Amino acid sequence: MTRQQILDSVSKSKFLSYVVHPDYLTVDICWNWIGGVTKNGYGAMQVKYYGKYSTISAHKIAWSFYRSSETEGLVIRHSCDNRVCVNPNHLVLGSYVDNARDTVNRKRIKRGISHYTNNLTEDQIKEILLLKGKHTQSVIAQMYGVSQTLVWMIHTNKHWSQRPNIQH
Ligand SMILES: [Zn+2]
Repeated sequence: MTRQQILDSVSKSKFLSYVVHPDYLTVDICWNWIGGVTKNGYGAMQVKYYGKYSTISAHKIAWSFYRSSETEGLVIRHSCDNRVCVNPNHLVLGSYVDNARDTVNRKRIKRGISHYTNNLTEDQIKEILLLKGKHTQSVIAQMYGVSQTLVWMIHTNKHWSQRPNIQH
C-alpha cells in the first residue's frame, strides 16, 4: 500500500492505542508495539482499504504518519534493531540490498561464517533478488558460486515485508 492509502485506512489514534511509549518527548526510547506480530517478530496490523484486508507492518504505518517520503521499492529498517519499535526516529529508509546485506552480515556473525558474502557485489545481490522464482535456489547458488543457504538468506529477507503472517 502507498503512504496515502495507509493514511486513508488507519487512524492515528487507533495506531497509537497499540503503542507503548511513556514519554513522547524522549526521542531515544523505543516505542514498543503491543499489537499483532509477524512470525519474524515485526509489529503488524490488519488494515481494511476499500473492502480489502491487508497486513501492514506497524513501522510502515509509523513511517506514513511521521515521515513524508514514499517507501515504494524500499524497505524501512530499524536503527535500534528492535523489530517491534515504531519510533519514527529509529526508522531509516534503505534498499532491499542494504537490508539483505544487513541480514546476511548479522547471520554470518551469529553463525561464525566469514566467507559467505565476501565474493558478492551489491549488483550481484540485486541480481539474486531478481532471480527469485525464476530458478531454484540451488541453481542460483551454482551460478554465483555461493552456498544455497546464502541465496535462501537473501530471498527470505525480502519476503517478510511482503507477506507477513500475524501471530497472536
Ligand atoms: Zn527503537
